[in-house]
Amino acid sequence: MRLSQRCYAVTGLGYSAPWFVNAGFLVGDNVTLIVDTGGNTMAAQTIYGYASAVRPQNTLRVINTEKHFDHIGGNGFFRAKGVDVWGHRGIVRTAEEFTAEIAEFNNGIPDAVRRAKGEARAFFIDTEVTNPNRPIDEDTVFDLGGCIATILLTPGHTDTNLSVWLPEDGVLYCGDCLINAYLPNLDAGTVADWKVWLESLDRVEALQPAFVVAGHGPVAAGEDVARVIGKVRGVLQEAITHGHSPTWQKAK
Ligand SMILES: [Zn+2]
Repeated sequence: MRLSQRCYAVTGLGYSAPWFVNAGFLVGDNVTLIVDTGGNTMAAQTIYGYASAVRPQNTLRVINTEKHFDHIGGNGFFRAKGVDVWGHRGIVRTAEEFTAEIAEFNNGIPDAVRRAKGEARAFFIDTEVTNPNRPIDEDTVFDLGGCIATILLTPGHTDTNLSVWLPEDGVLYCGDCLINAYLPNLDAGTVADWKVWLESLDRVEALQPAFVVAGHGPVAAGEDVARVIGKVRGVLQEAITHGHSPTWQKAK
């Protein structure tokens, strides 16, 4: 969906039900910046199709908002096309971790026959773990031609989280720093990380975005942005008070 003159969201990409994951792209005069690559190569193909259709002459560039596989699974598709993938220096995932992710998917299949057939592999056809080839570890800016995108480190959900902000369009792509309609996933961190996450929320709130493309859930617009930020902040504050995440029994 088109959000503004230069910004688009690609919503509803498949992941572990009921979770879907979002991606998006910003179209400058020279560069189209793709934010996240979905969970697998099929998602990357979809993102690529939309992103390259809007301004086909542009150079493509990818940035990952974090290290979890639902945001980087399509990286290999783009690297195979010679597209640079930027992301936090801490995104260093291994083939063993990826194999464990596929096994977890497979264990979640309710039907025993399908589970025995290993149907989770179908979701990850032609998908291999591929880390960013352009690591960053501080705030930076990308000149896309006619507009400047700001990359802001917004850690907390993981220590690799970052957000992409286009001030002139008021559009923020924030990965899982914000989540809409789902409970945020706090299980990748500790109380110390959740306090850092609160600081990141203050940071994105101060931008006063008109649109927020969260990592998961519908795009938030207008007054809904404050509600989404407030919801995640409330969950974090409660978790800090109690010393455990809302889903801690599952995480244990
Ligand atoms: Zn995610």
